[in-house]
Amino acid sequence: MTLTTLRVAIVGAGPAGIYAGNLLAQAVKAGDAIGAVEIDLFESLPAPYGLIRYGVAPDHPRIKGIVTSLHEMLDAFPETGSARRTIRFIGNVEVGRDIALDELRERYHGVILATGALRDAALEIPGIDLPGSYGAADFVAWYDGHPDVPRTWPLDASAVAVIGNGNVALDVARVLAKHAVDLRTTEVPDNVLAGLESSAVTDVHVFGRRGPADIKFTPIELRELGEVPDVDIVLYDEDFDGIDPAAASNNQLKVMLRTLSSWRGRPSTGVSRRLHLHFWHAPVEITGEGRVEGIRFARTAPDADGTPVPTGEVRQYDVQAVYRAIGYYGTRVEGADFDERRGIVPNDEGRVLGQPGLYATGWIKRGPVGLIGHTKSDALQTIGHLVADAQSGALADPAVETDVLDLLDERETAYTTWDGWLALDAHERALGENHVHVRERVKVVARDEQVEISRPGVLTR
Ligand code: NAP
Repeated sequence: MTLTTLRVAIVGAGPAGIYAGNLLAQAVKAGDAIGAVEIDLFESLPAPYGLIRYGVAPDHPRIKGIVTSLHEMLDAFPETGSARRTIRFIGNVEVGRDIALDELRERYHGVILATGALRDAALEIPGIDLPGSYGAADFVAWYDGHPDVPRTWPLDASAVAVIGNGNVALDVARVLAKHAVDLRTTEVPDNVLAGLESSAVTDVHVFGRRGPADIKFTPIELRELGEVPDVDIVLYDEDFDGIDPAAASNNQLKVMLRTLSSWRGRPSTGVSRRLHLHFWHAPVEITGEGRVEGIRFARTAPDADGTPVPTGEVRQYDVQAVYRAIGYYGTRVEGADFDERRGIVPNDEGRVLGQPGLYATGWIKRGPVGLIGHTKSDALQTIGHLVADAQSGALADPAVETDVLDLLDERETAYTTWDGWLALDAHERALGENHVHVRERVKVVARDEQVEISRPGVLTR
């Protein structure tokens, strides 16, 4: 059976959604059982790129650079010379609020959820809700200029605790410890720069609940900590008993343990800020009267199996702010089943269980682990199943033939488009060129302003 045109909606225009769209377009081009494909890529924000625009730290331009290839994928036209781009970007539309998932499912052969994981995982310890206790995801969203978080961030703490030993903990600790002057040529928004300039921080303490050989960092991200100007790295010898880099279980870890070893015993250089890396500290309580004044940890040690267990010793640190960077939690879509415990959409290799025609890819499929590149192999698996289902006739024809944009227009939803993004992108780059510290771009932060630049007049129709 030959399907003339396969129509697919993707929910989420981060790397997972864009890779999925691109791989689907390529698979249809290569196969002979599907004539053509039309992909609509829905995004709740006015601009594309999800975690790259709003999750990668501004001083990581190498990772932000992935945008260049994602841009090419979205900009592509089909070889048939159709006036419609292969992937049509439809921004500022929240599936589950502006349009129901079922309304998408009746308009497309397949719908792929690529909504990622935007919120912080919960840490259930006393004091977690005290003022001064923050989730890393919120802080990251603030310093990356996300439109839906407040424009100001309290940075009055001199001593700060960061819980977690993953790359997000490193991002948060580095941005907190770095002097604002060292960020001013990045795309960090001006309000963030002003906030960081006023920061009272002198000591950032990062706490892992396990040992140096259990870190979830990656080597480049760890090494760069040692290169932050005017910041000393402080390690504690007691955390390294029995740690031998040569005995590390893999090369990445060996490299990182060597990096840590090279920092041990470094004399203090009298700088104004310090970044402490503590291990064997499991958080038990955030303390304070009315706001964060300290944090308490159970000292841990490995048992016979290597599992960290409390030693009975409790340590207290005086800090005025706590950031938990203990992992993200999946973003559910109204209308799709959700596994509360794992924070994912229950699926079998990307096929959503019990909901034929619905697929998942990226962090909402497998949980919030892995680097951006991993979402590509993940998408390959999901797209493989979608194409196989299309070829076998398992996907129902859309019940509604009309263009989804007609429905959005009818509802006066101020959706943004790919041409709108090109306009916003050009605007942000021009702001960057004219900035007092020339930068690649200056992000427009406010949602309405982004929409207005993308589609002038659409908000006041
Ligand atoms: P992650 O790598 O999974 O690290 C989470 C950390 O939190 C782990 O050290 C974990 O310890 C700890 N943790 C979890 N629950 C805890 C608890 N109850 N108490 C204390 N500690 C707890 O997650 P992530 O840092 O959010 O990063 C997510 C993904 O994005 C990762 O794949 C990461 O590499 C990637 N990422 C990459 C970059 C980059 O390349 N520059 C930047 C940011 C993020 P255990 O190991 O003991 O569970």
